[in-house]
Amino acid sequence: MMRERVAENVYVFTSDRYAQVNAGAVIGPEWSVIIDTLAFPEETAEIREFVEGRLGSPVRYVVNTHYHADHSLGNCWFPGAVVVGHALARQYMDTHGREGLRGAQDHNRDLRDVQIILPSVVFDQGSLTLRVGKRSIVLLPLPGHSQDGIGALVLEDRVLFSGDVMMPLPHLVHGEFDNMVASLKRIPRLKLENLVQGHGEVVLRGEIVNAVRSNLHYLACVRRHVQAASRRKDPAAYLSDIDIEDCGKARILINGLAGDLHKRNLAALYQRLYGDKAGPPAPARTRASNARKRSARKVRPHLRRR
Ligand SMILES: [Zn+2]
Repeated sequence: MMRERVAENVYVFTSDRYAQVNAGAVIGPEWSVIIDTLAFPEETAEIREFVEGRLGSPVRYVVNTHYHADHSLGNCWFPGAVVVGHALARQYMDTHGREGLRGAQDHNRDLRDVQIILPSVVFDQGSLTLRVGKRSIVLLPLPGHSQDGIGALVLEDRVLFSGDVMMPLPHLVHGEFDNMVASLKRIPRLKLENLVQGHGEVVLRGEIVNAVRSNLHYLACVRRHVQAASRRKDPAAYLSDIDIEDCGKARILINGLAGDLHKRNLAALYQRLYGDKAGPPAPARTRASNARKRSARKVRPHLRRR
């Protein structure tokens, strides 16, 4: 795991086991807040050891930016902390989260002792502020990657932990296109020093506008191709020819997972926009629905892959 200090007493932890997923910590004078937990117990233990052991600061709150396993499975390793998230995150963890964990545990012994711990402080509109010493962490809705997405803005330091609504490549499979666009457009207006994406490198102040623009450009490109596909006789065949590079992104992003994710974005948006109404003709429909089933299997914990 990699550790990086992005402001005084604000740290980012990046997994080297799964998809460069990020977690964070804001250290206060008496206690600390963790933002996301990573997934594997050994990595969560490293975060805890650093914050509680080395810095001597007990973790009082754990924020989940959304319900996905790679951001929330470590909740159970902070038994003294209050877990905070969107009301929908609680609901999704209770259903999809439990189901995903059972599946992952069958394939990965490292997860055998993990338990789902649901957020006990939730909100579903407006924002929620945690005070840590003299600083404020403002939790604000940033839906689009998932409906329960929230960001954690360390107000005084202008550091945003965005969750997965901002990644090196947008991830739309569980998301909603227009919400993601709206959330992304909100990010540059926050006048940030550092943007901690859900996955991948920290984006510095001078790079934020371009990074967001690149994702908006990618999304527009995906939508254009999905719309073009809907006018073809064989939409699935048309979409299978649209490479990630055609939309301005590199397949090496996110530890090489980006190429596959791009294909799933196309399939997911096609399904969302045209579903059965304007669905592809029979043979293509089979291919598209297979792709959807594949992505549904792969999506959540991705943990069994190891
Ligand atoms: Zn996610």
